[in-house]
Amino acid sequence: MPDYLANQIAAGEVVQRPDSVIKELVENSIDAGATEIAVFVKNAGKQLIHILDNGKGISEEDMPLAVKRHATSKILSQQDLECIRSFGFRGEALASIASVANVEIRSKTKEAELGCKLLSKPNVEPEIEPMKMENGTQIFVRNLFYNVPARRKFLRSNITEFKHISETMTKFAISHNDKRFTFYDDNNLIFDVPPQDLKDRLLALMGTDISGKLLPVEYSNAIIKITGFVGTPELAKKNTGAKYFFLNGRSIISKSLAYAVFLSFENLIDRSFKPFYVLKIELDPHRVDINVHPQKHEVKFDDEALVHNAVKTATMQALQKNSILTDLEILTKKSNSPIEKVYHNEDDSNDFLLVNTGTGEIVGDSEFSNTNPSYGKSKGYSGNYSGGYSNKKEDFWNKGSESKSDFSKEISAYEEVFGNIESQTETPQGTIELADIDKVTEGQVWQFSSDYMLFKFNDNLVLLDILKSRQRILYEKQLKRIKKRQSISQKLLFPIMVQLPISKKVVLDEILDEIEKFGFGVRPVRENFELFELPPEIDESSAANVFESIIDSYHEYKLLRTGDLLDNLAVAIAMQSYYPKNENMSALEMTSLVKELLECSMPNNCPRGRKTMVIMGEKNLREMLR
Ligand code: ADP
Ligand code: MG
Repeated sequence: MPDYLANQIAAGEVVQRPDSVIKELVENSIDAGATEIAVFVKNAGKQLIHILDNGKGISEEDMPLAVKRHATSKILSQQDLECIRSFGFRGEALASIASVANVEIRSKTKEAELGCKLLSKPNVEPEIEPMKMENGTQIFVRNLFYNVPARRKFLRSNITEFKHISETMTKFAISHNDKRFTFYDDNNLIFDVPPQDLKDRLLALMGTDISGKLLPVEYSNAIIKITGFVGTPELAKKNTGAKYFFLNGRSIISKSLAYAVFLSFENLIDRSFKPFYVLKIELDPHRVDINVHPQKHEVKFDDEALVHNAVKTATMQALQKNSILTDLEILTKKSNSPIEKVYHNEDDSNDFLLVNTGTGEIVGDSEFSNTNPSYGKSKGYSGNYSGGYSNKKEDFWNKGSESKSDFSKEISAYEEVFGNIESQTETPQGTIELADIDKVTEGQVWQFSSDYMLFKFNDNLVLLDILKSRQRILYEKQLKRIKKRQSISQKLLFPIMVQLPISKKVVLDEILDEIEKFGFGVRPVRENFELFELPPEIDESSAANVFESIIDSYHEYKLLRTGDLLDNLAVAIAMQSYYPKNENMSALEMTSLVKELLECSMPNNCPRGRKTMVIMGEKNLREMLR
């Protein structure tokens, strides 16, 4: 078989569309140690793909080999093959591309005085000429598939092909944030990003309005290291959205890992939404087989469960660490609102949010207003990114993704909180120790109806859903008890009969052992069951109904949720328990509710993912009243 035919066949595997060419070429530039890479495309790459790098270049002797099949300078031995660190290793990309397009390579090593230029045409020995140029490599790929009409026809519209390209460029820019990337489409600058830390890179690529909504992920053990960001629940989107995994610098897709992230978010976002994540995984290359897919997207881990669990834990921790309690703590710590000094009550450390309430009496109104004028003014992410942008960039991103306004409109505590923190660093404020926070009593609590209450925390107005908060609290309380193996229950003087249809008996059978851990005592009595012990939160009078609803919900959640049995049961109990409505909660009841909620690991949402509270800073209020 002639070489060029073999190449064309290989090209079928390697080169599917302009985007695949770009992927191979940029990988080569990275392998060549480039710190600056520029990509220009014309007609979504169908007409021209031009890439420039400042890497180590190709010497004149090696130049003819670059487009020869199985000529790679990267693999030296079998051992290398087992432990692949460079992107390319097959030595067939350039040869394949050259078999289906006109390829021109210009390159100069720093040792050479002159560079050289290779023009490749299918089926002809390439010619090489010297030329004057800078160190590095430039590759032009013209008229892709000009000689394979069937494949050329197969290409999609420019918009679609360009979408693929921009997605690939975005991935490179994220995975190699230490390099400068410049990306042009038909003379329009799409992005030009300098070496920068990952967060700045993401803001530069995705827009600064996500600034306060990125939660850092940092996790490592002896085997695996995971860094990056997850978005706060409000960054989750219906269909699109950023979902990126990188393994040892390479973009990968993995259903198993996506699922691991999903599990962390499960109770925080609506099921139809997808979380935002950018996660970089570092793992000994020996533990990975990247050779599974010719395009190297999909990988196999030698211990799938290990990686899965690490990702789940890493993202879970990021979400927990950044739950609202932490935010408020930081806020309190950084602020010097006089309230903290005034309401320093050491005896009442349980009621740290206790403030006046039922009476409507405003405690220290004069001090509250204007305590911290800098908050209102803060614009967390006014930070200008210094890299050049054209207006086109905005168009491009808007075209490519769902409108951002969906979530930017939403009232955002994080934005406010993080924004504040950033502006605080410019104007240092007094601090109080974190330990003091429990002793601080401040703000007001006010019950609006049997369903809602309001309270003030620092400069935020918080609207709280009483029922959902109670559900969250009970859910976490139960799981904590189970973890500590302290099931609490009250013995009933008169056991309660529960009659169940056969379908529910089957379900009960499944959970019988576990439900005891929650403090239920259940035993079969002839055809039926009786409850002889109840958890303290379950009221005797409603117990039979609640118990049946728990069985129903558990059954439903088992189908809908992915949590384990205990978790599903905990949600079922929390959601089905009867919480008596009370229009007139006492100040103490209200403040302890708030405190218990804020002590939860994920206080912002009920166990089924709905919001427990809305936090409004001045900025949000101003927006609402515009
Ligand atoms: P592979 O990357 O698998 O080695 P390629 O066909 O992609 O195979 O590239 C062939 C060879 O050409 C590489 O091994 C490398 O020596 C050289 N090469 C390609 N692109 C560049 C570049 N941008 N800078 C320096 N060398 C390059
Ligand atoms: Mg390569």
